[in-house]
Amino acid sequence: MVSVGVLALQGDFAEHVSVMQQLGVNTLEVRHAKEFDQIDALIIPGGESTTMARLLDLDEMRESLVRYAKEGMPVWGTCAGMIMLSTWVSDGRPEPLGLMDIKVSRNAFGRQVDSFEAALDIPVIGEEKFHAVFIRAPIVDHVEKTVTVLGRLDDSTIVAVKQNSLLATSFHPELTKDYRLHKYFLEFIHKRK
Ligand code: GLN
Repeated sequence: MVSVGVLALQGDFAEHVSVMQQLGVNTLEVRHAKEFDQIDALIIPGGESTTMARLLDLDEMRESLVRYAKEGMPVWGTCAGMIMLSTWVSDGRPEPLGLMDIKVSRNAFGRQVDSFEAALDIPVIGEEKFHAVFIRAPIVDHVEKTVTVLGRLDDSTIVAVKQNSLLATSFHPELTKDYRLHKYFLEFIHKRK
């Protein structure tokens, strides 16, 4: 049986665990490098990316996470998780994992719009718009040719991207009842097997 790990050092990991459980998927809260061995895919949740990166280094998990992802383990980063997956971060903090060829800006919507919601077109999950919740969200400023853009805001700001079996979204699909992105991510595991 497939098992999805959720990095549980900090942030809203419990919500992702709950969605995956509702989809009938085995889940594991990942807090130690040795647990990467027990999972088929990993979600890096939203939270605070500088804190998350610090805890990852404190627990000596960075190197294994990068190795497993480079070997093809599907990884999905939401919000702070997207920042973690990137290679370039606008303000130089945190030191990202360097797995996706994207440049991100943190807290890109400024103070006035700390959080907002938007209906997004994400064709890979179907025609119906996806109701996306943004909370102090990052945006993708730049993508290399290796990256596929999956979704944009109306002003064409990039907020969802894919690169091989890596997925990143600026928003929080675990906070709504629409589980299409979680299901889409699960397909990455089955394609790999
Ligand atoms: N602003 C956070 C950061 O820079 C991300 C916010 C979130 O994950 N909801 O890490």
